[in-house]
Amino acid sequence: MRSAYGRWLESLTSMANTVFEPRPAAALAVAGSELRYPVHRVYCVGRNYAAHAREMGQDEREAPFFFSKPADASTQADTVAYPPATAELHHEVELVVALGRGGRDIAEQAALEHVFGYAVGVDLTRRDLQAEAKRQGRPWDVAKGFDESAPVSEIVPAADCGHPGHGRIELSVDGQLRQQGDLADMIWPVAATIAALSRFFMLQPGDLVFTGTPEGVGPLEPGAVVACSIEGIAAHRFTMGQRP
Ligand code: MN
Repeated sequence: MRSAYGRWLESLTSMANTVFEPRPAAALAVAGSELRYPVHRVYCVGRNYAAHAREMGQDEREAPFFFSKPADASTQADTVAYPPATAELHHEVELVVALGRGGRDIAEQAALEHVFGYAVGVDLTRRDLQAEAKRQGRPWDVAKGFDESAPVSEIVPAADCGHPGHGRIELSVDGQLRQQGDLADMIWPVAATIAALSRFFMLQPGDLVFTGTPEGVGPLEPGAVVACSIEGIAAHRFTMGQRP
């Protein structure tokens, strides 16, 4: 029989009081810093640019809506795993907001004070499975929340880049321009998006918000080289891996 002291010693020397060692939280590189940004959740806005809403067959006046991806779907890897079980993987380039402060029912006027920084990211989407889910009225998780479905650049502190209200956002595949737009064309700007999201969720430091994509979404094949950028913020490049 172990003594209380023995159990206490064991609790100190074991990795943790958990049945297995927990996976470390996803943590992203921050521009100009050795410190990393630990990801709590990944939220996404659907249809936040009028022209993309039109290309997806929606009335452009429809309010944007939210979905999410697992925190560990975020990746800064040079090669991104090509997901299984899709014949139509699509790119969606987006401004990514990285929160540094949490809260609920955040006022739009105060929302930008909750932002740590910004990045450019790609909301990878199994478009075929998303279309099927829409037809059947089913959830989007397998279409949106698969492994490595959220490639993202270094996070640039707002202290360095400010809070962008406009600026060119674009994505090219194998050197060919596929998407271009301007942050000024977002239906819900960053502050309004944070305020709206905070009505539904207790936001936390470490929450990423993908803020929607401009028009020109399209397919990615294995081996495709994806380059994306937001003027004055960040650029990012990755290669799609081979089909599993
Ligand atoms: Mn998207």
